[in-house]
Amino acid sequence: MRANSLDLLRYAVRRVGTRSIGPRSGQCGLRWSSSETRQWSTPLAKQLAEVINTTGPVSVAAYMRQCLTSPDGGYYTRNTTDHDQFGVKGDFVTSPEISQVFGELVGIWLYTEWLAQGQKKKVQIIEVGPGRGTLMNDVLRAISTFKHFAMSVEAIYLVEASPHLMKQQAKLLCGTDELETHDLGWKSTCKYLPRCNIIWCEDIRFVPKEETSTPFILAHEFFDALPIHVFQNTASSTIPASSTILTPTGPIIPKHGPQVPKNHWHELVVSPVQSSSSTQKGDPEEFHLTVSKSPTPHSLYLPQTSERYKALSKIENAIIEISPESLSYISDFAIRIGGANSAPTTPPSSQSLSSTSQVSRSSPTPPFQKATPSGAALILDYGPATTIPANTLRGIRAHRPVSPFTSPGLVDLSADVDFLALAETALSSSPGVEVHGPVEQAFFLSTMGIEERAEKLVRKAKLGKDVVADMDDTVKRLEGGWKRLVDRGPTGMGRIYKAMAIVPYRDGVVRRPVGFGGDVVG
Ligand code: SAH
Repeated sequence: MRANSLDLLRYAVRRVGTRSIGPRSGQCGLRWSSSETRQWSTPLAKQLAEVINTTGPVSVAAYMRQCLTSPDGGYYTRNTTDHDQFGVKGDFVTSPEISQVFGELVGIWLYTEWLAQGQKKKVQIIEVGPGRGTLMNDVLRAISTFKHFAMSVEAIYLVEASPHLMKQQAKLLCGTDELETHDLGWKSTCKYLPRCNIIWCEDIRFVPKEETSTPFILAHEFFDALPIHVFQNTASSTIPASSTILTPTGPIIPKHGPQVPKNHWHELVVSPVQSSSSTQKGDPEEFHLTVSKSPTPHSLYLPQTSERYKALSKIENAIIEISPESLSYISDFAIRIGGANSAPTTPPSSQSLSSTSQVSRSSPTPPFQKATPSGAALILDYGPATTIPANTLRGIRAHRPVSPFTSPGLVDLSADVDFLALAETALSSSPGVEVHGPVEQAFFLSTMGIEERAEKLVRKAKLGKDVVADMDDTVKRLEGGWKRLVDRGPTGMGRIYKAMAIVPYRDGVVRRPVGFGGDVVG
């Protein structure tokens, strides 16, 4: 159901709720005796505390990953049969849930790219993090009206971590939640394109990459849900010679004794508070952030991966957020569209360090090459256009901002997307792509014709409804919806949300896509 209460925007609630999570004093490596009498808000909170008590504080990324997608009660992966995360009754509302025009315009955008690229035959449509499936539903309905484009679609891939959301998506897109098993995960037949299977898998790595395929990839409010590492630049860092390095499997002592690399970036890590304290809103905070005194594998590596981070290395207490998983995803998108560099690329991700490692660097398989780059990726999310996000981890529950350190698994966690980091990684991963944007969502949707499309729907609604009260409601919802999506006020969705596109780069000719300053061609 589309939300008609437009002040329940996920974005607006989250932004208003952004609070600094500046580190509190504390020490890494503390151990807490497990108290059998301590009550935890959720089984996941207890589990996290027990793990941390055994191995030491964990990165914000590890905490986020567990809170969002742990099979044991993660926010997206827990059983939500009678109460899902989206909509008025849930925790937040997203753009596709506000107005059907959003998804329709995204479908039209894909069509314009398909035309501009010479109407390729073997099209894959891929969406990462489809939520309830509302965006894909509107996209496919729009695409099905362009017969030749629709005929060229070979398969639709949905990358989804939550088995419960997968079923909801299947109900909407296939008319059934009875999925058949498939080599990659699950499948069913698309109701809009009956020749096509929709195939679900848990990671984009499983989606087949073929030299002759043309992948069209969508990511709406996906990257903000991927885990971030947080680092603080502590100028007066004194790392003792005997310090240990924290690793996911426990602390290790550096081989070279006092030769600890000079490193002023310290990772912020999460550990349980000794006894939970109530926040202003009354929910007890069971975890908190501390600055790790010892280097972590990530603090030694990630802040060195971009000149943007290095430029901040002299600024005391600067905070940077880096999402290696986001960089792995964007690198994968770019390679699918443009092929890999002939030398295997090493995107600035913690691939070899992270337990969520995507592709082994020492992989014997040759890099994926594409004689003719083709396809496109459209990323819609919120975050600054050029600056590095800092202090943006936030929690939201029942449309209210809450501490990210309360009720793990019941609170949605998200962080701003670093668009420039995504753009840099896409460009360095593939010689066959160019990146456009980020542009404000208002610009993207307006140049895609949101006003004209909404007006058309309003006219249709006025003609079609016999009951005046119903018509008024529909018209209000249509008009309010599109205006909200392009609102450029200080906290408006049109300003804070951004659109970025990755498209093929060929023959030294730059072609601006529609919505990013270009015209329809082809
Ligand atoms: N795009 C949708 C939903 C956004 S919420 C919309 O805008 O309405 C984030 C989505 O990403 C959910 O479907 C969630 O289950 C999925 N997700 C979160 N982390 C994921 C991960 N690591 N891998 C795959 N899917 C993930």
